[in-house]
Amino acid sequence: MKELEHPSDPDSAPSGVAVFNIQRCSIHDGPGIRTTVFIKGCPLRCDWCHNPESLDGAPEVAITEGKCVSCGACVEACPESDGVRPARGPGWDDETCRRCGACAEACPGEARELIGEPRAVADLVAEIERDRPFFEASGGGVTFSGGEPLCYPSFLTACLKLCREKRLHTAVDTSGFASKKVVSDIARLADVLLYDLKHMDSAAHERRTGVDNGRILDNLRTLSGQGAVIWIRFPLIPGFNDDSENLEAMASFVAALPNPHPIFVLPYHPTGVDKHRRLGRETTAAEFRSPSEDEVDAVVERLRAHGLDVYNGGAM
Ligand code: SF4
Ligand code: SF4
Repeated sequence: MKELEHPSDPDSAPSGVAVFNIQRCSIHDGPGIRTTVFIKGCPLRCDWCHNPESLDGAPEVAITEGKCVSCGACVEACPESDGVRPARGPGWDDETCRRCGACAEACPGEARELIGEPRAVADLVAEIERDRPFFEASGGGVTFSGGEPLCYPSFLTACLKLCREKRLHTAVDTSGFASKKVVSDIARLADVLLYDLKHMDSAAHERRTGVDNGRILDNLRTLSGQGAVIWIRFPLIPGFNDDSENLEAMASFVAALPNPHPIFVLPYHPTGVDKHRRLGRETTAAEFRSPSEDEVDAVVERLRAHGLDVYNGGAM
């Protein structure tokens, strides 16, 4: 089993983690209308990842080469420039990049963008709270997503406690790849966990995500036994996890959990391919395709045949 790796020291996290997006009015990340906070940093490396900007825990510069007007402002602004080019650019070693964002700030054509901004707990929750009217009208709240929010247990705990004080409904979107203590502690503080099941075969899981599924399945069984409110999320990826054997194994596993949990089938969308390019990363994401509506319906029906509560999409 792969050892847990954290993209940054969790104990340093209460002072802030890098948030790369705050998406308002989301209707696919838990009950009601939600504000989804995307946190950078993830111990998994899913080949189909549609949020590649979430993988690295630190802020980073994304580059759209087609927008560059060759003005040289980034070279001048970069404290690590060699006088010809800035530290970070397509196709060259960027180990010296300080991730300071000075080049992005100087860039007139928006060819450079700094992805990820350190956010502290109180400031982040104050921003979320602005959406309270939407939450109250719809039964919604905030969803902490990523990346993997469980990489930052101290930060996440502080956010969840503050949200609870303010009576904001909370969801945590997780791969489940964390220590048993962390998942159990967070499950006690969050109103609902959105828990991914990607593949039931451990070798296939490891081949495509970089980690086996032992800890993930074990944590899910434990949390279910503890009475945690869990929405299971199944990212449906044709050619990877839509075969009969996997669907049957998943249905049997979920049916045998100590408590019943709904399953949400999430059709894969290849939105991450261009983002990988902008971050200068190699990707195999283009190998995957979206399932057709008929394929999604067939999977939903097949899982329902096991007496499970199954939904097409991310909400009831
Ligand atoms: S983020 Fe900072 S160090 Fe990195 S290339 Fe831009 S200006 Fe240079
Ligand atoms: S500042 Fe922006 S537009 Fe100018 S050379 Fe650098 S990347 Fe290109």
